[in-house]
Amino acid sequence: MDKSKNAIITGSTSGIGLGIASAFAEGGMNVMLNGFGDQDEIESLRVGLAKQYGVKVKYSDADMTQPKEITTMIEQARSELGRIDIVVNNAGIQNVQPIEEFPPEKWDAIIAINLSSAFHTIRLTLADMKARKWGRIINIASAHGLVASPYKSAYVAAKHGIVGLTKTIALEAAEFGVTVNAICPGYVRTPLVEKQIPDTAAARGITEEEVVRDVLLSAQPTKEFVTTEQLAAVAVFLCTDAAASITGTALPVDGGWTAQ
Ligand code: NAD
Repeated sequence: MDKSKNAIITGSTSGIGLGIASAFAEGGMNVMLNGFGDQDEIESLRVGLAKQYGVKVKYSDADMTQPKEITTMIEQARSELGRIDIVVNNAGIQNVQPIEEFPPEKWDAIIAINLSSAFHTIRLTLADMKARKWGRIINIASAHGLVASPYKSAYVAAKHGIVGLTKTIALEAAEFGVTVNAICPGYVRTPLVEKQIPDTAAARGITEEEVVRDVLLSAQPTKEFVTTEQLAAVAVFLCTDAAASITGTALPVDGGWTAQ
């Protein structure tokens, strides 16, 4: 990996985004973290990564539902890191309810965070990447970008949407050294999944143990959760020059889920 690169990873105070940010820092990249959480914990995370890997680590508290805050995050990254070479659109939330009960404000929030925020980061950074003839955009979609599950209407719609966005921008950027790919993880045991276990139990009328065994892991032929480290390694690879011909893909990392 080219060590002089600068990357923004949205939703990187937890889970998959944090795993990707840590792997990028370990590889020598300067990174901008983003996401919510306890400000003291985020600050010690930021300082810890910078010290451990000897790279610049900055933080933006931009709310991905707010286009103006996304613009401010991009401006902050340019002023604190310099040019933006890599954008990982990872911030995401979930809500599990039948559509008749699905709160419209949850629908709007999921579409805004899981889909529209990527439109905004891309529209604000792609021109510079194209001008420099190098860039990487990685959208963290989901197996739910390729197949559906009941009770996740907004999430599945947003994830299918981001796969479509990925393909479209890959075509627009193809001749400019900029690749655009979606990674489609299966289930990873992050706070996002922990939270949906009780909700899924309620929606399906089963126990939480049954949700893990009969809903989550039954989707994955490996019967194993995917790990944040496995996903981070794929993201690191997509940033190498060896991956220059991989663009417009929706790459499953899902233990065989979408092969069925
Ligand atoms: P997580 O809950 O651990 O992390 C989500 C991150 O997004 C956190 O840093 C949180 O602060 C941030 N975030 C939430 N709302 C935000 C907002 N409005 N503005 C800015 N940041 C915000 O979740 P995760 O499991 O690591 O999920 C990361 C991505 O991976 C999501 O897009 C999710 O859909 C996707 N994904 C997760 C799984 C899984 O099984 N965990 C599977 C497939 C895809």
